[in-house]
Amino acid sequence: MHRFLHVPFLYTHVHSLHHRNVNVGPWSGFSMHPVEHFLYCSSLCIHWVVPSDPILVIFQVIYLGPVAAMTHTGYEDLLIKDKRRLALGTFYHQLHHRYYECNHGNQEMPWDRWFGTFHNGTPESTAETRARKKRMYS
Ligand SMILES: [Zn+2]
Ligand SMILES: [Zn+2]
Repeated sequence: MHRFLHVPFLYTHVHSLHHRNVNVGPWSGFSMHPVEHFLYCSSLCIHWVVPSDPILVIFQVIYLGPVAAMTHTGYEDLLIKDKRRLALGTFYHQLHHRYYECNHGNQEMPWDRWFGTFHNGTPESTAETRARKKRMYS
């Protein structure tokens, strides 16, 4: 869905509002155009197709709120007693906000690695991302 929002028409009219947040913070996750909010919440429609226990539906409704904030917190991981307990992925998504055409997904799914849009924060990845953007928009 996020990659879909980067189609030029949707990016210009919908998703660019979210990308105004270059230096992200927790509220950036909720800073979306109403169309993007609708699409974001449309993942709940899976429960019309896949029979689900109501507890799962309630869990997903509750999850959708904090996860948008968590991925924009400014913290990479949740540490408990100095152990990484939860990957928040902020750095991964911060790179997306900074360079636009990379890291459309999350760290759990390898889509960006498979489709060549993964940015790991190195200068080499930045050069690759900039070269890809140049090819796309020239
Ligand atoms: Zn974002
Ligand atoms: Zn985006």
